[in-house]
Amino acid sequence: MLQSKDYPFQYDLHVHTSQGSLCGRSTGAEIAKAYQDAGYAGIVITDHHFGGNTRPDRNLPWEEWAEAFCSGYWDAKQTGDAIGLQVFFGWESGFHGTEFLIVGLTPEWMKQHPELRDCSIQEQYQLVHESGGLVIHAHPFRRRPYIKEVRLYPDYIDAVERINASHSNPAVADKPEYDDEAAAFAKKYHKPVTAGSDQHDSVNLRGAGICFKRKMQSAKDLVQAIKNREDSILTDGAVFYPGNRPETIEK
Ligand SMILES: [Zn+2]
Ligand SMILES: [Zn+2]
Repeated sequence: MLQSKDYPFQYDLHVHTSQGSLCGRSTGAEIAKAYQDAGYAGIVITDHHFGGNTRPDRNLPWEEWAEAFCSGYWDAKQTGDAIGLQVFFGWESGFHGTEFLIVGLTPEWMKQHPELRDCSIQEQYQLVHESGGLVIHAHPFRRRPYIKEVRLYPDYIDAVERINASHSNPAVADKPEYDDEAAAFAKKYHKPVTAGSDQHDSVNLRGAGICFKRKMQSAKDLVQAIKNREDSILTDGAVFYPGNRPETIEK
């Protein structure tokens, strides 16, 4: 894995498991092991939620659905705890192809909020934000058959996924220009940036992530580090990009 001497603590903010995502091809345990071997400090498990390509049966009562949904995370976390990889909980919500990464809330919180199932993008932001979570617009400029149109919600996000390795990393990439557009979008609306692999298996790690100078204490700490634009760089697994810098206070 590409590693920075100055920013040695790398976190992948976009990772799927086979327990939570229909398109996932490796278990949480396999994923955690692979990321530990690659030298990551941590990962956020972001399986496809109710409005996306989710694995659990949508006919289940909410609490049972939520339990099944979280099983990939728990599997990754149990292995991560045993081998020294930080595993944080998150999810990827879907609204007719427009997707968001949610970080900083807990499985328990999710279980207590069945309104997530039918909420709008605006309601999602309010709900997640008032509970201290982070809403990241995932690959905002991706065009694929499952995404009918690019829809932007600068008022309802905290950050922008500026690097998604499935666009940028030359080993797997199709459209680096999608990520360039994401960079311009983040700049225009003054949003912090993040990076993720959009990893769906444990065999060919793409190696993307956001890299910090220090180890994060918790998922909440990671959320604050992004919100506060803590000094960081991004990578798609092949090269590094500028990340966030603390803002200069203008008077
Ligand atoms: Zn997927
Ligand atoms: Zn994804």
